[in-house]
Amino acid sequence: MFLQLFEGLPFYLLWPALAAVGVGWYLLICGGLYLLLHRSRYAEKARRWKTQIQSTRADQVRGEIVDGVLSMSMVMGSIAIAFWCSYHGYNRLYASPTDYPLWYIPISIFGVFIVMEVFEWTFHWACHRNDLLWKVHKHHHRYANPTPFGVMADQPIDMFIKSSPILWIPLLFPIWDVALIGTFATMNFLYGTYLHAGFDPPWMPSPHSRFLVSAWHHNEHHAGSLDHNYGFFTGALDILFGTRLTPNDKVEKRPSYRCTECRTSA
Ligand SMILES: [Zn+2]
Ligand SMILES: [Zn+2]
Repeated sequence: MFLQLFEGLPFYLLWPALAAVGVGWYLLICGGLYLLLHRSRYAEKARRWKTQIQSTRADQVRGEIVDGVLSMSMVMGSIAIAFWCSYHGYNRLYASPTDYPLWYIPISIFGVFIVMEVFEWTFHWACHRNDLLWKVHKHHHRYANPTPFGVMADQPIDMFIKSSPILWIPLLFPIWDVALIGTFATMNFLYGTYLHAGFDPPWMPSPHSRFLVSAWHHNEHHAGSLDHNYGFFTGALDILFGTRLTPNDKVEKRPSYRCTECRTSA
C-alpha cells in the first residue's frame, strides 16, 4: 500500500517526501501529547502520574525537537532505501496483502517483532558497553527527564542504526510494507513515546510488571542506572542477562527506597 503511494519518485525526491510525512507525524503525535501533558488544563491532573516531579526546561524541549526532526528523517531514509530496493527488485518488500497468503501476515509480523526486540536490545546494550558506540548513544542521554519529544532525541547515526531493521528485514524474508512499517512504528515510535513521556498512568504497564517495559523502567535507564533496562518493549532479554531493574530490586539494595511513582501498585 505505502509502496504504491510513492512509486515512480526518484530517490532524491523519495527520501524528502517520506521525511516530510514522518516529521509531520512526529510533530503531531509527540507535540500533541506534550501539549496535553505539559501545557493544557489536563496537565495539572496528569501530574499525579508524573515519574519525575521536576519540570522540563524549555531549552531541553527545543533540543529534543531538533534531534527528533533529524532522527525521524534518518528513519525515513531507511524506509526510502527499502522502498527503492523493492521498486528495483532487490528485496522482498511487497505492496499488496494478497501477494502472499493472508496467514503469512501475522507470522511475518511476529518475525519482525522478534528481530527488532533482539536487535534493539543488543545494539542498546552494546552502546553502553563499547566506547565508540557510547560516543554516539550518549547524545540520547543528555536529558535525564525526557518529554514525549525525547522518543526520537537520538544522534542521527544512532537512530539510523536503530531503524536499520526496516532496511534489512525485507532481505531476510518477504514482508508486507504496512506490516513492516506498522510494527516498527508501534514498537519504536508509539510505545517509545509512552516510555519517554515521563508519566506512569494506571492503565499502562505497572512498574512492578514482571515482563513488560513500563515508562518507569525506561525512566530508570535515563535517570537512575545506565547499566540496566536496555529493553524497549519486553523485559525478556534484560531478565535473561541480569540487567532488569525493578522497584523491588531497588528496595532490596536500599530498604529505605520508596517508589513514589509506583501508583499503579497497592
Ligand atoms: Zn541508553
Ligand atoms: Zn530513552
